Amino acid sequence: MVVGDIATGTEVLVIGGGPGGYVAAIRGGQLGLDVTLVEADAYGGTCLNEGCIPSKALIHASDLAYEVEHAEEMGIHARADVDVQGLVGWKDGVVDQLTGGVEQLCKANGVNLVPGRAEFTDSHTARVAHGGEGQGSESIEFEHAVVATGSRPIELPGFSFDGDRILSSSDVLSLDSLPETMLVVGGGYIGMELSTMLAKLGCDVTVVEMLDDILPGYDEDVTRTVRERAEELGIEFSFGEAAQGWEDTGNGARVTTENEDGETTEYTAENVLVAVGRQPVTDTCNVEAAGLEPNENGVLETDDAARTDVEHIFAVGDVAGEPMLAHKAYREGHVAAEVIAGEPTRLDYQAVPAAVFTDPEIGTVGLTESEAEAEGFDPVVGEMPMAASGRALTVGEDEGFVRVVADAETEFVLGAQIVAPEASELIAEVGLAIEMGARLEDIAATIHTHPTLSEAVGEAAANARGAAVHTLNR
Ligand code: FAD
Ligand code: NAD
Repeated sequence: MVVGDIATGTEVLVIGGGPGGYVAAIRGGQLGLDVTLVEADAYGGTCLNEGCIPSKALIHASDLAYEVEHAEEMGIHARADVDVQGLVGWKDGVVDQLTGGVEQLCKANGVNLVPGRAEFTDSHTARVAHGGEGQGSESIEFEHAVVATGSRPIELPGFSFDGDRILSSSDVLSLDSLPETMLVVGGGYIGMELSTMLAKLGCDVTVVEMLDDILPGYDEDVTRTVRERAEELGIEFSFGEAAQGWEDTGNGARVTTENEDGETTEYTAENVLVAVGRQPVTDTCNVEAAGLEPNENGVLETDDAARTDVEHIFAVGDVAGEPMLAHKAYREGHVAAEVIAGEPTRLDYQAVPAAVFTDPEIGTVGLTESEAEAEGFDPVVGEMPMAASGRALTVGEDEGFVRVVADAETEFVLGAQIVAPEASELIAEVGLAIEMGARLEDIAATIHTHPTLSEAVGEAAANARGAAVHTLNR
């Protein structure tokens, strides 16, 4: 049956149902706005369907399998038989539960859900082509719009994702079977998280990274801890080499890399994961028709209200630029909805945490020591090695440290770098401290539960004041 074109109207049109878009829609609904959310593919976007959640599910499962097989020191002798299809099926179940939850929450908050791809036709109207031939389309007139179209993986020239040899992170999160060997191009967030996961499941992994270290932007002692542990897991690294091209060998891929001096090296592997960054998606919704112009990096620039150059159009999440993290998208979605509803909310990026789910994990927030210096502070730093944490020893994971950075004169907490088990959780305490304008003493005098990993945060703060008890003061 052909359903003709229909015309509708809405106060707020949200394009894209990932963490940026669905939060904007739900918050808008809560504030009494009439919201329409258009999603072309699956509610939850990259994060729930092929990013944060599926990767963390598989990382957790691979940790479990690895731990079981490496607990001889604790007197435990066991073998883990991993059924990859069962593993991926479990992960899909987790994803379904969460994406279904997003849909329900949208409906419960009065959000009008429209499946399909939205394209601006002008600055106050968008057309949504409904899926399937002859399904017609809908023209939606809006007062405000929130562009939340996310990002997609960058394709290296010559390395088109084919789902067979050359894999994207999405492909690796839905493997049918575990390859024996994997070449990972890019030692950033995805390269390091998925290499660790694959190595723990028994795959031979080699990482080729263009720069001279993994995880650009993190302190050298943070990356060293993670890199050394990755090497213990059997991951091999080649630095200073960029992937140039590949050929199919029949049972795998032969990849050629080139270093700064033009010297080439060849690697063979059953599969190749290319994870060299992600780029904003602005080519799915005809942004130009709405008067929007992406910058030279493809980003829709916004102000501290998440507003674009076009007064009534907002952009949130990955499409609005770095850092491309789900919790940053959440916050921007939240703020955009509140600003549209007339609330005096604004964005403040001084305490955006980041976590890398490697072994051990990394958690950071605020400023490093050198960033604090560059911003004109006279920083004081306190550290607690995890080897001195009773809890870390009881869980058999004592690599890493907690470092807290503060302003020497006022003792205001400025940042933290944590490389430790559960660093992704531990960093929240320091984020809250920065957000509340806490001083070192506030953290140091907080009674932390014993024995927990979080005690190390308290000890690092005390260490910065020369008052640590469980480690030598600096
Ligand atoms: P997306 O989640 O990309 O959602 C955009 C949505 O818009 C999509 O559903 C798309 O279908 C839809 N869309 C696009 N165009 C249109 C259109 N014209 N009409 C209708 N719909 C449209 N971040 C973290 O913070 N922690 C992590 O642990 C983490 N792990 C990750 C692991 C991997 C493997 C990957 C790839 C990413 C990870 N990220 C992580 C990043 C995180 O997924 C993104 O930052 C987040 O999803 C961005 O949210 P978003 O709403 O901006 O965009
Ligand atoms: P990334 O920017 O983190 O890392 C890409 C790496 O690829 C860099 O180290 C870069 O030097 C390298 N590279 C680029 N071109 C290369 C080439 N030709 N040969 C070899 N190396 C090359 O990007 P990513 O790992 O693809 O992740 C994309 C984004 O997804 C991240 O920036 C982050 O925003 C998000 N993400 C977040 C998490 C998390 O929060 N835990 C996890 C996964 C992804």
